[in-house]
Amino acid sequence: MSAIHSVVIIGSGPAGHTAAIYSARAGLSPAMYEGFMAGGVAAGGQLTTTTEVENFPGFPEGITGPELMDRMRTQSQKYGTTIFTETIERVDFSQRPFKIYSQNDPDTAILAHTVIIATGATAKTLPIGGFQDYWQKGISACAVCDGSLPIFKNVPLFVVGGGDSACEEATYLSKFGSRTYLVHRRDKLRASQIMQERVLKNPRIEILWNSEIVEAAGDGRKIGSVVVRNIASGETRKQDAGGLFFAIGHKPNTDVFKNILSMDEDGYLITKPNSTATNIEGVFAAGDVQDKKYRQAITAAGSGCMAALEAERFLAATGAH
Ligand code: FAD
Ligand code: NDP
Repeated sequence: MSAIHSVVIIGSGPAGHTAAIYSARAGLSPAMYEGFMAGGVAAGGQLTTTTEVENFPGFPEGITGPELMDRMRTQSQKYGTTIFTETIERVDFSQRPFKIYSQNDPDTAILAHTVIIATGATAKTLPIGGFQDYWQKGISACAVCDGSLPIFKNVPLFVVGGGDSACEEATYLSKFGSRTYLVHRRDKLRASQIMQERVLKNPRIEILWNSEIVEAAGDGRKIGSVVVRNIASGETRKQDAGGLFFAIGHKPNTDVFKNILSMDEDGYLITKPNSTATNIEGVFAAGDVQDKKYRQAITAAGSGCMAALEAERFLAATGAH
């Protein structure tokens, strides 16, 4: 039988690495399973898919997402985290020590006294024409992260979606763009009343109802136009565009925990108020996997810290080390 880890961390974004740094510095020698393209995202998480990060404290000049995640990884290892580039495909939390199974060796249980789940979420996008050419060259899935970049100033901006995220992002972008278009596939928004009102009252936002974006084009360096199709009439129209933001929801990476941990109707893990504790004692969840409201690197890191401290207290209380 293999040794029992005090802490196993599943996932490797800002939440996972912050949990690793704290539990490593507490002498708990955590094992991190960072994933291998798990949820379609490289080890290091969602920030590996972006360029400049300008809102993570401590980097006044900004830092690229991949470099920030490289630095977190180095810091985790420096204090004693062992990192495995493997994806966890199955867990058994029915009794302690918990059993975790990696895709690389599905028959051998990895044993753990506590588990911190930090598997994040994946932003949904649409496979429109030109997507691959202009992703991160004007196409983004996070307005709050990218919207204030100089390329989005005083140019027409498009947001796709009709939920709270889309309304929030359109409202945010309206401060920067020359005009902001909210492109929604139906004739009614899904967003909460208050968010809808903010959009409908904003003279800098125009809603394109019953519409979809079918293509993005540009000069190769950045996006310059989009083709909007009216779903009802089938009519298409090319419009100048300096930015295109998808806000059509996220998918939390929680398939592995279905029927094991409590989740909300969208598959986000449910944690106790002001805590990262899940419904199973000794299993904690941090970052975007349990947060559909803030979804930022710093909030993910904050909850990773909470998870590590709670795991440490749990180990002390149960005497398991
Ligand atoms: P994630 O970053 O989602 O990482 C989770 C990791 O776990 C992934 O690597 C995944 O592959 C891995 N994983 C999943 N399942 C498994 C499994 N079964 N086994 C092992 N590993 C697994 N936030 C900001 O604060 N500032 C920004 O400028 C900013 N820019 C962004 C730009 C883009 C394009 C996107 C999509 C997001 C951006 N964000 C930004 C949001 C930020 O990236 C997220 O809030 C943050 O990364 C969430 O961190 P996390 O640790 O919860 O998980
Ligand atoms: P939602 O699932 O609520 O909305 C997604 C939107 O994208 C819907 O309008 C949907 O259209 C549209 N959409 C989905 N798939 C496609 C597609 N393939 N093509 C075109 N459009 C598509 O996601 P959100 O991210 O907006 O919100 C998720 C949760 O987070 C909600 O519970 C929300 O309330 C919450 N939230 C709260 C915030 C706040 O309180 N400040 C901020 C952000 C989110 P359709 O309506 O036709 O289905």
